[in-house]
Amino acid sequence: MSINATSSLGMCKRCGDLRMIACSGCKGTGLVKEGGALSFTFIDDMYESLGGDSKVKTIRCSKCQARGRFCCPECSKAQSV
Ligand SMILES: [Zn+2]
Ligand SMILES: [Zn+2]
Repeated sequence: MSINATSSLGMCKRCGDLRMIACSGCKGTGLVKEGGALSFTFIDDMYESLGGDSKVKTIRCSKCQARGRFCCPECSKAQSV
C-alpha cells in the first residue's frame, strides 16, 4: 500500500521539474495585449503624437511582472522548508 509515493519521485508533476510554470495571463510572453474595454484613449492619443503604434498595445503582464512565468509554488514550497 503505497499511496503517498507521488511526492517523493523527484519530478514535480506541476511544472515537470522546470521549477517554473508559464503564466496563464500572458501565456509565457510577459506581455499582454491591451484590447479590453479599458479607456486608455488618452494614452492612445499620446502614442500617436509620439509616432508610436497605437493599434496593438502591449502592456507588461501584472500577474507575472512581465517575466512570463512563475516559480513553481510546489517546488518553492519544497525548497524553502
Ligand atoms: Zn504573465
Ligand atoms: Zn514544480
